[in-house]
Amino acid sequence: MVDKDFSNGAAWMAQEIMPVGKAAIPVTDWGLTHSDITYDVVHVWDGRFFRMDDYLQRFQRSLAKCRLSVDQSADDMRRILHQIVARSGLDRSYVSMVASRGQPSVPGSRDPRLCDNHFYAWCVPFVWVFLEEVVQRGAHLKVPETISRIATESVDPTAKNYHWGDFTQGLFEAKEAGFDNTLLLDHDGHVTEGPGFNVFMVKDGKVRTPRSGVLEGITRKVAMEICEHHGVPVTEQDISLADFLEADEVFATTTGGGPVPITRINERVFSNDAPGEVTRQFNQTYWAWHEDPAMSEKVNADY
Ligand code: PLP
Repeated sequence: MVDKDFSNGAAWMAQEIMPVGKAAIPVTDWGLTHSDITYDVVHVWDGRFFRMDDYLQRFQRSLAKCRLSVDQSADDMRRILHQIVARSGLDRSYVSMVASRGQPSVPGSRDPRLCDNHFYAWCVPFVWVFLEEVVQRGAHLKVPETISRIATESVDPTAKNYHWGDFTQGLFEAKEAGFDNTLLLDHDGHVTEGPGFNVFMVKDGKVRTPRSGVLEGITRKVAMEICEHHGVPVTEQDISLADFLEADEVFATTTGGGPVPITRINERVFSNDAPGEVTRQFNQTYWAWHEDPAMSEKVNADY
């Protein structure tokens, strides 16, 4: 049953479903004090979860990488996600599943093994990582001069995380210079990713995306499948910024909007400052696939 109090979203926490605004974690939770948390985000479009298995599997891998252990199985999580979205009544939703380190059973302890890890989930209306008008004209990204992506040896980018210090600094620099968003390089000068998105380049009819130092985005995975579907060769490899700027066309991929055109990076303008043809085609295929029952499942309150 849809409840009006839940129209801004719903959350599941400690066995209870509540309006999203009521969900809170203690100030001493290590998820908050140490960003010691992992999460994943799946979306619902027109009443259907897209690629739920992919998101749940990635989340299970992140839990293992972060050495987090929660009571809920992947099946329990799937059921909880169905229930909160059904309860919210949202037809298009951003749905987050989270596992936090929690609090140590011995107050003040600094031993992560003593923490009581816990799972929670929440959903809100669909979030566009790029504003809709930016999707129409193409995004403008700035590569910051002095900030690079945190080293993979320090924070594993394949376990989705809240360590956004590098992205936040990059965002300030980009916004203050009039750009929409930021794109970070690693310490060797290879292109990595931006806050909430992976990137692809198209050059001479071939597609490339950074191989390492990035989250293995589900939309990135789908975009590679779309390449195969359209017979376009695609490879994952290290790409220097100079190589990336040689692209004919560039796009981002994100759960918050699918394949999104990028028309400017720093001073470089791509595809005549308009969304490129490959991106346009991929975007169409991506949204069309949302209706395919093999890739999506209907939100079900009784799951
Ligand atoms: N890279 C980072 C750092 C992200 O946080 C995200 C998603 O939020 C992505 C890439 C894109 O991944 P996905 O396509 O699974 O949304």
